[in-house]
Amino acid sequence: MAHPLAGAVVDGEGAQQRRAIAKAITLLESTRPDHRVQADVLLTELLPHTGTSFRLGISGVPGVGKSTFIEALGLHLIAQGHKVAVLTIDPSSSVSGGSILGDKTRMEHLSVHPMAYIRPSPSSGTLGGVAEKTREAMLVCEAAGYDVVIVETVGVGQSETAVAGMTDMFVLMQLPNAGDDLQAIKKGVMELADLVVINKADLDADAATRAQAQITSALRLFSQHGRERGAWHPQVLQLSALRNTGIEAFWAAVVRFRQVRTDEGRLQERRRHQAMAWMWERIEGGLRSAFRQDAQVRELLPTISADVDEGRLPASTAARRLLAAFGIPGTDAGAG
Ligand code: GDP
Repeated sequence: MAHPLAGAVVDGEGAQQRRAIAKAITLLESTRPDHRVQADVLLTELLPHTGTSFRLGISGVPGVGKSTFIEALGLHLIAQGHKVAVLTIDPSSSVSGGSILGDKTRMEHLSVHPMAYIRPSPSSGTLGGVAEKTREAMLVCEAAGYDVVIVETVGVGQSETAVAGMTDMFVLMQLPNAGDDLQAIKKGVMELADLVVINKADLDADAATRAQAQITSALRLFSQHGRERGAWHPQVLQLSALRNTGIEAFWAAVVRFRQVRTDEGRLQERRRHQAMAWMWERIEGGLRSAFRQDAQVRELLPTISADVDEGRLPASTAARRLLAAFGIPGTDAGAG
């Protein structure tokens, strides 16, 4: 069973290929069940053509300079012969339908470059759903020969974890005054970072250098207490996206990271782990929504919830009853 778009995505050229990519991504973003079936056929067919690109995650608060940086980096990479795709996960879109990252003026040169493909965040759904679509869009871009895929997100909420969970390397962007207020940098996010970039170093060189030292020692502390990181130690770099300085040094660090991680076997391990984690995340998401939509469950839920709420029924008993109503008999809710 072949999907008609697969050939044009993999072997198409120029505008024809771009149209095929756009159609493929639109298909997999569709909520229609028949589209989902087609999208799964297409993705399965594209899968053997994926996996050779480098997946780079970038996060930072609005205004830190993400789009300025990605534009400068993207153009630098294209000049070296790469094909660059940029995808975004915009957590605001799943909440409000609005968009922090969606305005058209972003990356004005990169967005019209024939060697770049830029796609904004899917505009609706839960964060988990939006992240899943982005992950699938990444596979489409890889199958089309984009060998650097950048996934960008805003530094708020859970979206950083989602991006770190679908990329080979996670980069956190900071402002030069970040070091003065290390408390404000969420520890959990800092721990995800393989590299921290202090942008706008042109504004205040002293502050940038101070921030670099402070964040470097914070990262050292995390890695002493945190998970084992192998031969790569997270680094902190300064740059100015606006003045286009530090971009080459940044990419050199990325290339080093990729080499170290590949040699250790950790790059492949991270991807295998990510694929499994995604599978389970989506299974759990699917089960949860099937459960909540189940007619029996919906009928029982208000009374059972009230019983738990008012102390008439143990929570675990309530869970077992609801699971049984859903068709999972004899469940030990405590074991799940
Ligand atoms: P984003 O919201 O993270 O995508 O940030 P933008 O890339 O839109 O940048 C926000 C503002 O910061 C814009 O006015 C940029 O011109 C400016 N900016 C970005 N990078 C730099 C930099 O390295 N130095 C200076 N001085 N300004 C920058």
